[in-house]
Amino acid sequence: MTNKQWICIIFIVLPLLAFSQQRKLMIQDSARYSVSMIYEAVVDMIYLYEDYLEVSLLGYSEFGQAIPVLKISDTSTKPKKAILLVGNLHAREFFSSKFVLKFCNEFLFSLKNSNGIYPSADKILNEYDLFLIPLANPDGVKIAQEDWKGIESYKNAIASIKRIGPYSDWKANGLGIDLNNNFDDGNFEVKHGHLFEENPASQGHKGDYPCQAKEVKLLQDFVDSITPLLTLSFHTKGDVLFWADKGTHANFQGLDTKLNIRIADKCGLKMAKVSKDPREYGAGLENYIRAKTKRLGVCVELSPPNGSVSQHAPQMFKTLVWDKCRYMPILYLEELSILYPSYNYLFLKE
Ligand SMILES: [Zn+2]
Repeated sequence: MTNKQWICIIFIVLPLLAFSQQRKLMIQDSARYSVSMIYEAVVDMIYLYEDYLEVSLLGYSEFGQAIPVLKISDTSTKPKKAILLVGNLHAREFFSSKFVLKFCNEFLFSLKNSNGIYPSADKILNEYDLFLIPLANPDGVKIAQEDWKGIESYKNAIASIKRIGPYSDWKANGLGIDLNNNFDDGNFEVKHGHLFEENPASQGHKGDYPCQAKEVKLLQDFVDSITPLLTLSFHTKGDVLFWADKGTHANFQGLDTKLNIRIADKCGLKMAKVSKDPREYGAGLENYIRAKTKRLGVCVELSPPNGSVSQHAPQMFKTLVWDKCRYMPILYLEELSILYPSYNYLFLKE
């Protein structure tokens, strides 16, 4: 080989090799992710991490927007426990989809690279299959961001829905139903919530019957098909875990308390008191999980309260959410692995 050829290898081929080994999708901390940015990030992850990542569709929203489900698993045929992470049930809470997406990306990167931030990622996949739904309410997110592309034909119908505050405060789905008040947990009839609206609204309307919202029906059917041992549903106000309710708390015989105390402590979050009144707490995803599947469900409120419904600025994501909570899902799974052997009898009976 001539010197010229070596120089060619050093300057052209080697940097390309290095690039291919280290290429990492960046989930930008300071950007507010639109629906299409989330889709693009998911597609990028498919190309980068095809050995571990399978993407399917939960289905389509009321306005025909795709709701992707990301499954991270290894190739072993050993039975695994399913874990579910869900973001953006509430439209305006854009930190929550960003968190699920960024966690997913960092976890996948850690499986393939020794310099990832989750060194236990491989070990976790020995025991768990992770299912992630970063964007449970794409129509609502588009409305909250006034991103009408692809939903132009619904604009008049959206404008006719009672709006409380600016579009950026929109919390419901495209039809004006609060998705986290529409699950069929057995409490739908008694649930009112302090912002109850009789008719469709940008927030506070639970729907006319459980599972009226297409997104809720899809999510509930999916939950029934995988029966996750633990579900973390991410929201964005309060730095608090809603981890137990009076109707189901006793079923867990202390496992829920031990698990969540440790996570709250390690991540610097508060633990809400056990929710007492089904009129206040019922019909959320976490309630459905606890009441109907008898598994662990936690509503995680990321980021501190700011005395307003408006969200923190996008550039605050790193300091208010990521720096504090990036290890949270890993901590949950590590703690669950420690605690589970003493409690597995709880989950054997259906
Ligand atoms: Zn919320």
